[in-house]
Amino acid sequence: MNFYSDNPDLVFHVRQGIHWERFVPLWEQGFRLADGPGSLDEAREVYEACLHEVGAYAAEQIEPRSRGIDAAGVAFEGGEVVHPPGLLQNIAGLRKLGVLAPSLPRAAGGFNFPFGVSAALLELIGRACTNTMILYAFYQSPAVMVQRFGTREQVERWTRRLASGELSGAVAITEPDAGSDVGRIATSAVADGERWRLTGRKQFITNGCGDVCLVLARSEPGSAGLAGLSLFVVPRRDGGNTNYTVAKPENKQVIRGSATCELAFDGSCAELLGPRGAGFAQMLTFMNEARVAVAIQGLGLSQAALEAARAYAARRVQMGRPIARHELVADLLLDMEAEVAALRALVYRCTQLQDRVIGLERAGGAKPRELAALKRELRDRTPLVKWLGSERALWITRMAVQIHGGYGVVQEYDVERHYRNALILPIYEGTSQIQALMSLKDQVRWALERPARLPLGPLRVAAPQDTLGDAVREMAAEYNRAFKAVIGHSVGWLGLLHAAVTKREPKPERLAYALLCAERLAAMLAHVRAAEALCEHAAASSGRRRQAERFVSRALPLLRMHGEIVRSGDRSTLASLA
Ligand SMILES: Cc1cc2nc3c(=O)[nH]c(=O)nc-3n(C[C@H](O)[C@H](O)[C@H](O)COP(=O)(O)OP(=O)(O)OC[C@H]3O[C@@H](n4cnc5c(N)ncnc54)[C@H](O)[C@@H]3O)c2cc1C
Repeated sequence: MNFYSDNPDLVFHVRQGIHWERFVPLWEQGFRLADGPGSLDEAREVYEACLHEVGAYAAEQIEPRSRGIDAAGVAFEGGEVVHPPGLLQNIAGLRKLGVLAPSLPRAAGGFNFPFGVSAALLELIGRACTNTMILYAFYQSPAVMVQRFGTREQVERWTRRLASGELSGAVAITEPDAGSDVGRIATSAVADGERWRLTGRKQFITNGCGDVCLVLARSEPGSAGLAGLSLFVVPRRDGGNTNYTVAKPENKQVIRGSATCELAFDGSCAELLGPRGAGFAQMLTFMNEARVAVAIQGLGLSQAALEAARAYAARRVQMGRPIARHELVADLLLDMEAEVAALRALVYRCTQLQDRVIGLERAGGAKPRELAALKRELRDRTPLVKWLGSERALWITRMAVQIHGGYGVVQEYDVERHYRNALILPIYEGTSQIQALMSLKDQVRWALERPARLPLGPLRVAAPQDTLGDAVREMAAEYNRAFKAVIGHSVGWLGLLHAAVTKREPKPERLAYALLCAERLAAMLAHVRAAEALCEHAAASSGRRRQAERFVSRALPLLRMHGEIVRSGDRSTLASLA
């Protein structure tokens, strides 16, 4: 049993889909490092060996413990959060394999693996047990933040210990009154000699009971919104004393094995991480990476649900045939498979962009235009992959429940748990609506930069010159028509010109229609980008081509539906608000 080698689509991406040659030489400084691989082939062999090893551990050890972890949930005993024992066993096993922070530089305790490898590892673990994947992510992600923004001493003090698994971390942004609206953060930070004192409450913090927490707090008195925030490293214990209080973890229907805690800071000692006042921009780097990670969580859950549904449909006989042989179920299974493949293609498109950006930045001397273009591509796709990975994983896991019939809602069957766990995806790391708004904001900004481009529409796709490519181009055209209509129905073309000339953003009320359409536009754009990524490798085999054709043939009518609604100019919701 191996969750890597039993997954041909993932193996395809690792062996053929990902253009490792574009960034691994940059990550490995031209293979000149004494402690690194000597060539691209050697690097790829190491990546794959690691995926094989973790794939086996995920299938043989992590997955069998996943039910017990969900059933036990997180406990609270003697004022301490107690993780399910199976979860701790899983993390201990991953620690033993040495893979808690694979993308950190080797000097900081990692393997210097590109994020594409980290993504594949997350996928394998996420398929086996979503609760384990979440805790696993809270070693590397805070470690990367300290590595990125910390002083040499901070890297020494925190990064290595997180990477080795000696410590686990948390990241605290949300507060009782600051959810989607991060600008309402009220936790205060006051300088106290070399250190800082934090006071306030954080809500819903994953692994808030960990050893160290990265906290976004207001360091500049009188500041408002996203300005005046700084990032802090806050150890749970300071000189043997409790530094902040962890309240009883939430009792949830979703990710029951993951501790979601309220934290109370009361003059808690903290270290500033990075420049004062730059906290939001710093945290954004975490949030963007975490958003791709949530999409991968959705991918892992979707793969697990698909496998369960396939197996059940093959053995469950009704009306004289396995249900997999009934037209409706067969169609559903193929749709699910195509959706999973499309999501995976978009995920690895994003990790490749991220790996190229990091590689070029590390190597130095990159052409600014090339770097800016890659960053923009990644920025465009990040909210989309989070949206798609969340919303479509919900659909895929629900269809897996449906294929199981009555057994689908019975706890002995895994799909009930997968569906429950998928419910968290569109909520954390920025809800689906927030992803849609972020995507819209960038599109409007694009139109404002040079309104003369608007008649062509903002979206261009790279697709093969054949009927499949034509369909993807038609999807893009549908999106462009919808976007132009949204501009027409909201700020208007003259309003857009005026805003561009005066360099003043349109008033929010003039954008109301655009805000109303934001999620439809994001859904359209996400499907186009996924189709584009899926079609890149459609020529590799007839199976891949069929899958891409299926995805595109389902997505195009969906885009047309959204496009028609958007173009209708229906303002009844806005009228009801008024
Ligand atoms: C299990 C779990 C784990 C979490 N882990 C962490 C963590 O580790 N660290 C952390 O900092 N936070 C964490 N969170 C918090 C999470 O990120 C927030 O719950 C999320 O950002 C939404 O905030 P909220 O719950 O306050 O909802 P709200 O912001 O109140 O949103 C409620 C609804 O209104 C919608 N909405 C809000 N504003 C707008 C708008 N402008 N336009 C359209 N719709 C809008 C939202 O989309 C949502 O549907 C976690 C949450 C959960 C449930």
